[in-house]
Amino acid sequence: RAKHAGKNSAQLFDRDMHAAVLKRLNTERELREAIGRGELVLHYQPVVCLTDGSCCGFEALVRWQHPVRGLLAPSEFIGLAEETGLIAPLGMWVLREGARQLRAWHQHGQLAHLSLAVNISGQQLRETARTDQRLIDFDFPPGLELEVTESTLIDAPEAVENLHALSRLGVPLSLDDFGTGFASLAAVQRHPISTLKLDRSFIAPLPSGTRQRAIVASVLTLALHLNLRVIAEGLETPEQVQAVTEMGCRYGQGFLFSRPVTADEAAKYALTHPPVTPRTIPLAL
Ligand code: C2E
Ligand code: MG
Ligand code: MG
Ligand code: MG
Repeated sequence: RAKHAGKNSAQLFDRDMHAAVLKRLNTERELREAIGRGELVLHYQPVVCLTDGSCCGFEALVRWQHPVRGLLAPSEFIGLAEETGLIAPLGMWVLREGARQLRAWHQHGQLAHLSLAVNISGQQLRETARTDQRLIDFDFPPGLELEVTESTLIDAPEAVENLHALSRLGVPLSLDDFGTGFASLAAVQRHPISTLKLDRSFIAPLPSGTRQRAIVASVLTLALHLNLRVIAEGLETPEQVQAVTEMGCRYGQGFLFSRPVTADEAAKYALTHPPVTPRTIPLAL
């Protein structure tokens, strides 16, 4: 009897596996086509100067407007894109679209100060180098920046020289999700980082959370001594803003200010949150 049940569950398992594999193949094919069909979109989340509430730039966050499943978050397709090599064309699309949008904003007199940060994953960096879609040949407009995580720097050692070369050309690098990896300080020491993005997990427990408070204060002190900028990620309450501001943090991002929004809404946000002293060039973050 047990043998019988075992056989049935094995068949079920096979059937489920089969369905999962088919679904994956289908999604892979759809994603491949999505890039050419214009189904990818960028949303933009404001980076806010905490001392005056002005908008100094945005982070570009990719979404997939799927014809049936609706607007999909990166967590639903970036992993698949990385496993299938599609991350190289997807990433180049993000870079091109981000650069195009930033140039368009810069044409508008009152938006000439904006910067734009684009995320680059380790797999993407490696795949991009392998397929010769060389980042170094990309025409970065002033104000365009790249965000990498510690794992990007660790996972793609053979491709990291590309980032160093870009940095020498003046493209600023931010270290995303700072503090969540195992090599945060080593990364700061070895790579030309200009901005630390303090991970949301340190911000969420504030204003209480004495340990997190100590960590945030230490990172801000470190950054001050190394001449790095710090952006607090995931600010959701005025109390969190007050806490990080008191500790000397000058930049932040989070739902309190704005969720990631369309390009049009982003431009409106920037126009209604202008710099106090007019600026005509992007402030390097
Ligand atoms: P990330 O670069 O750390 O981006 C921040 C994520 O936190 C975004 O999620 C954003 O919507 C979310 N977030 C911002 N403020 C708040 C807040 O106050 N509270 C909470 N709970 N969340 C907040 P999203 O857009 O789903 O992106 C997730 C991740 O996907 C990104 O994390 C980034 O690692 C990756 N990603 C997004 N776009 C791209 C891309 O174009 N290329 C690559 N390689 N990765 C991307
Ligand atoms: Mg990011
Ligand atoms: Mg982040
Ligand atoms: Mg994060």
